[in-house]
Amino acid sequence: MAKTDFYEQLGVDRSASAADLKSAYRKLAKKYHPDVNPGDAAAEQKFKEVSEAYDVLKDDQSRAAYDQYGHAAFENGGGPGGPGGFGGGAGFGGGFGDMGDIFEEFFGGQRRRQGRQRAARGSDLRIEIEVTLEEAFDGTERQINLTRAVACDTCGGSGAQEGSAPTTCTVCAGHGKVRAQQGFFMVERPCHNCQGSGQVIENPCGDCRGRGHTQKQRNLTVSVPSGVEDGTRIRLSGEGNAGGPGATTGDLYVFVGVRPHAVLQRDGADLFCNVPIAFHLAAKGGALNVPLLNGKRVKLNIPSGAQSGQQFRLRGKGMPVLRSRAHGDLYVQIEVEVPSGLNKKQQALLDAFVEATDETNYPDVSEFEARNTKSQ
Ligand SMILES: [Zn+2]
Ligand SMILES: [Zn+2]
Repeated sequence: MAKTDFYEQLGVDRSASAADLKSAYRKLAKKYHPDVNPGDAAAEQKFKEVSEAYDVLKDDQSRAAYDQYGHAAFENGGGPGGPGGFGGGAGFGGGFGDMGDIFEEFFGGQRRRQGRQRAARGSDLRIEIEVTLEEAFDGTERQINLTRAVACDTCGGSGAQEGSAPTTCTVCAGHGKVRAQQGFFMVERPCHNCQGSGQVIENPCGDCRGRGHTQKQRNLTVSVPSGVEDGTRIRLSGEGNAGGPGATTGDLYVFVGVRPHAVLQRDGADLFCNVPIAFHLAAKGGALNVPLLNGKRVKLNIPSGAQSGQQFRLRGKGMPVLRSRAHGDLYVQIEVEVPSGLNKKQQALLDAFVEATDETNYPDVSEFEARNTKSQ
């Protein structure tokens, strides 16, 4: 079977950058994805081919090998063995799946073979939600709607047609792995016949085409705990995509974003608030009502002679700490606002006020003057 050139497969030329390859692959994968073309065998084949091409070309080492040796680089890695067998020389037809091992052997690289052993496990899903700081304070709930793969109703997730059942794979005797001689080494790799599941479906279910799952809309309630921080990840175990027949379902990860608040800044469990206050309140002292996130207000006593930039700590009035009864603190920093736009009457009153004050009312001004005079 003559294979199409991987670059041609992706419609790029040989000098394509990694980014070019990726975007070409994405475009094609979207177009030919089996979920988009249900029942279209040609599209499925094409999807497999572009995935295979991209899998080889996306990795610098395998791309270099492909550039040098072409498809042959991937076709001489020893054959699949039976259970514990020695399949040397048999060659492997669908050999692409075994490439990772070959590259580990040939290049001694750090390629980790991820996903293979758990290939059948359903994939994880990820969604993002946003809450206000008030909601983060109290904790809240969110209704979410997502499309995910669920076990097929028709076959109960087995992937096999009614009246039939998956049979144990004869190549690996249900182990899902085969051992093979590779040069001097004995390597264990997932069985190509059953993709590591240990079972083979001879009469695939018509509704899910043997995959054991179908796409379904689902409503879920996510409870967002009090004290949640921006970027907190909530894992809902088993709420991800269903896997292949007999496989575990993936998880759903909910990433919580906390929207910035109009007047409160947050740092961990502590809250910070800049509050402008009228100059007479700062001069005379008095009560300041500070709004809290739970809708209540707390009274803060401003001492007489308070100055801009002064900070007050309200213990335990900050955010709740996630999964704890502790609370952070609320820091209030005051900014004294000097009155502006004075009318005649106000100016006259202020003149009278000035008459009645002396330097002892302005220690900083007096001290500055004194230091300035001394230095001259
Ligand atoms: Zn089915
Ligand atoms: Zn097998």
